[in-house]
Amino acid sequence: MTAATQTCGTLFIVPTPIGNLEDITLRALRTLKEVDLIAAEDTRHSRQLLTHFGINTPLISYYREKEAERSEEIILRLEEGKNVALVSDAGTPGISDPGAVVVRQAHEKGITVVPLPGASALTTALSGSGITSTGFLFLGFLPAKSSQRRKALAALSSCEYPVVVYESPRRIDALLADALEILGERQAFWARELTKTFEDLQSGTLSDLLEKSKDGRNRGEFVVVICPGAKEEVKGQTLEELILWYRDNSELSLKDVSRQLAADLGISRSQIYQQALALWNK
Ligand code: SAM
Repeated sequence: MTAATQTCGTLFIVPTPIGNLEDITLRALRTLKEVDLIAAEDTRHSRQLLTHFGINTPLISYYREKEAERSEEIILRLEEGKNVALVSDAGTPGISDPGAVVVRQAHEKGITVVPLPGASALTTALSGSGITSTGFLFLGFLPAKSSQRRKALAALSSCEYPVVVYESPRRIDALLADALEILGERQAFWARELTKTFEDLQSGTLSDLLEKSKDGRNRGEFVVVICPGAKEEVKGQTLEELILWYRDNSELSLKDVSRQLAADLGISRSQIYQQALALWNK
């Protein structure tokens, strides 16, 4: 035990429900009751939850825009020996929510961090998806700006894992339309309004989901899973034939094709890039 851990309080990371209040754990309730202070993303929002459970622990705010500043304040309280619980508006702090900055600072100072397991839209959606892959790539929110979102999607074209993203109802149409255009037809899944009255799980192609999203009844928050593209057999004997096959049969960029072929053939990427560049717009 370091000097810090002997005198400092503990930082508890406490997940809260993503809709259904019954999803809070007994340990989360006890922790929220016992700590000296709760650092919350939105104190008014968290106060409602705490009031529901008869908890009146003092709250301080901890939100993204002031994360660095607020972290310092929380660390000071921990150094004074106070126990602090960190909560976000819903789900697990630090998962597409503020939290990581204060956790990192606590580690640096030798302060004990205790993360509690609990609700997260990510794990809830995946467990209900029926997607059998052993791994997945979680990206949180893709950029809101269309050009940046499309760039992010293009970078995922050869990802061999299901990609999981969070999305708001305002952008679900745009996300699905961009994904279809950039990645081509794929199997996909959405989980909407998880744990709430109008919970909705949908599997289908990107086109199916895009169609459904256009019916205008897509209120609520979404988790979207986009499955990897079907692997087509690459045809070609020479480097030139292989480059042309990728150009004509895949959505990969010139750069991605060079990277892929360099890995497959064990030759330098720049050598392939030069040849691909000469062939690309022929
Ligand atoms: N930290 C949270 C977690 O552990 O899930 C995520 C916070 S992030 C700011 C909010 C996003 O999570 C929403 O825009 C949505 O994509 C997803 N989300 C949160 N609650 C959800 C729910 N009940 N159903 C579906 N998605 C949800």
